Amino acid sequence: MRVVPMGSSSFYTKRLPRGCRLCRKGAKMVLLVTGLCHMSCYYCPLSEGKRGRDVVYANEMLVRCDEDVIGEALAIGAKGTGITGGDPLLVLERTLHYIALLKERFGPSHHIHLYTATVDRESFRRLSEVGLDELRIHPPVRTWGDLDRLGLAEALQGLGMPVGLEVPVIPGEREGLLALCRYAARHGLDFVNLNELEVSETNHRALMARGLRVRSDVSSAIAGSEELARELVEEMGDEVPLHFCSSSFKDRVQLRERMKRRAKRVARPLDLVTGEGMILLGVAEAEDLGEAARLLREVHGVPEGLMWLDEGRCRLEVAPWVLEKLAPSLPFPCFLVEEYPTADRLEVEREPLN
Ligand code: SF4
Repeated sequence: MRVVPMGSSSFYTKRLPRGCRLCRKGAKMVLLVTGLCHMSCYYCPLSEGKRGRDVVYANEMLVRCDEDVIGEALAIGAKGTGITGGDPLLVLERTLHYIALLKERFGPSHHIHLYTATVDRESFRRLSEVGLDELRIHPPVRTWGDLDRLGLAEALQGLGMPVGLEVPVIPGEREGLLALCRYAARHGLDFVNLNELEVSETNHRALMARGLRVRSDVSSAIAGSEELARELVEEMGDEVPLHFCSSSFKDRVQLRERMKRRAKRVARPLDLVTGEGMILLGVAEAEDLGEAARLLREVHGVPEGLMWLDEGRCRLEVAPWVLEKLAPSLPFPCFLVEEYPTADRLEVEREPLN
């Protein structure tokens, strides 16, 4: 059997789902259509701000209108969208609306996959009708040993789009996971996505209470998850396409590629983009920002295009290569700041320049 490595300990057998191929390039927008879900999985990684809340997020941005969704897709040059939750089938009409919106705006080639824990033939049919390209079912862990009970095969009959299963690899659930892979092979499903189990702020207690531990102090991956995935691939990788997505792949490859795509598109002439896709900029903080801008413009000859007064964050942004040179002679604090190129511009590092 040929196991294809993908970097950062991820790998697959046979073929990689199309949704994952685009995600790997950072070309998929993550659209969370609701934080609501009825499943209560103990390992659910959803953050406090999303879990149980009927909110919509496009990547890191809270969505208030359709234009926010389109704007974020444009900002990363998205070639597709992964619709997730919570459970998108709990807000089916909204989910159908977003699929139609994205297909209408970006055309039929904009690839959309959807992740759900609900098995419902009529909902699947409507999703397919509106243009969904790939369906990923997340059956709750208690059902893994006996998926026939869910009526999944019957619900999927004649759907006409690739369908796979997507589950976390929980150490101690070897038999359930094997049964799930056998089910997928027996019913000719297109793939099984195995996600490395990860600790988050919200599932930490539940995982620790079950005796699960992180691999190391600097990792959020649960020890033994990757090893179990390798055993499953050894046993079932020939029978059904298996894909293991590691926690570090999500961080180091998917997220970084998405950041690079976004940074390239949102960077202004005064921003520098790092090799990691972060934005580097100069920041001046002064009591009178208008006066600080005037000083830079009139005394130091800084062109308008290399400065931006950010009133929301009460700071003057200046091209970093300019501010680095001028800072020692300026009467207000100046910094070199590194930020994510995301809508919330999360600051990760700040170095004083004077
Ligand atoms: S199905 Fe997914 S969103 Fe719902 S509780 Fe389980 S892990 Fe969380």
